[in-house]
Amino acid sequence: MVTSTTAAAPGKARALAVPDITAVNSALWLTLTVLAAALAYYFLGYDQGAVSVFGSDTHIHEFIHDSRHFLGFPCH
Ligand SMILES: [Zn+2]
Repeated sequence: MVTSTTAAAPGKARALAVPDITAVNSALWLTLTVLAAALAYYFLGYDQGAVSVFGSDTHIHEFIHDSRHFLGFPCH
């Protein structure tokens, strides 16, 4: 017989932690997520392509180089 110490006792309801979701809170998280995704997309796909934020420095390009090829972005 398998027993679990974390199982709820029979007959007792367990409270669920429901996050506080408001329209402003959702819009803030959506905006931050889009900004982070756009930043990651730029560095993965376009830095050291046609343009670069850091000039002719290739440290970021070389750091994410394998990820760039794995995701199918053209490189060289
Ligand atoms: Zn490459």
